[in-house]
Amino acid sequence: MSDKPVARPRIADACICCGGQSLEKSPAILMPFVAHRVFGWAPVEIDDSWGLRTILNGNAYSICNSVSCLDCGMLFLDIRFSDPEMEALYSGYRQAEYTALRDHYEPGYAERNDTLNQGIGFIPEIEAFLTPFLPLPVRVLDWGGDTGINTPFKSASTLFHVYDISGKPGIAGAVRPRCMRASTIKANAASSSRPSAAPSRSAQPWRCCSSSASPPRAA
Ligand SMILES: [Zn+2]
Repeated sequence: MSDKPVARPRIADACICCGGQSLEKSPAILMPFVAHRVFGWAPVEIDDSWGLRTILNGNAYSICNSVSCLDCGMLFLDIRFSDPEMEALYSGYRQAEYTALRDHYEPGYAERNDTLNQGIGFIPEIEAFLTPFLPLPVRVLDWGGDTGINTPFKSASTLFHVYDISGKPGIAGAVRPRCMRASTIKANAASSSRPSAAPSRSAQPWRCCSSSASPPRAA
């Protein structure tokens, strides 16, 4: 795959999957972690000291839209990130600085990340749940599966692909799909852990709001 930057509209005006233009939009909040890491926009509290005459006081987050395609059912974020923004989001993926900032906005993320890195203990239960619906052996594409350590059906698959941008080597048997961006993988693999630059955690825990407050309404 070419690493040449791809031109994208800033705000999607068509389905990112099928190109359809029958779309429904629902107001949403961009994950505070993403807004901070990509744009440097941290949530703020607006109070009287701002001196605004037409804006109500309260918490301000970066807004966006959840978009639903009526043609294919794809549900996606209307903001389309540029290549530099994607690099800002994913460089040093799940390394010290990334994890500290995300844990600031999503308390418990670092601990959950450690658990996932060590390997979850309930893969047999996942496989038992899925088995009645699958013709074994299966071909597996684990999207965002890190090293593949938590991928179900590893030993019952004829093809074991793991798509992930962490840059970590896959476990034995895991194959990286060729569609992955070589530059991102290389950058993440080469990044070293750096001290945390995350601000101290607020007394008020942030809740992650990556999806719309309500599902898209029917037309
Ligand atoms: Zn679509």
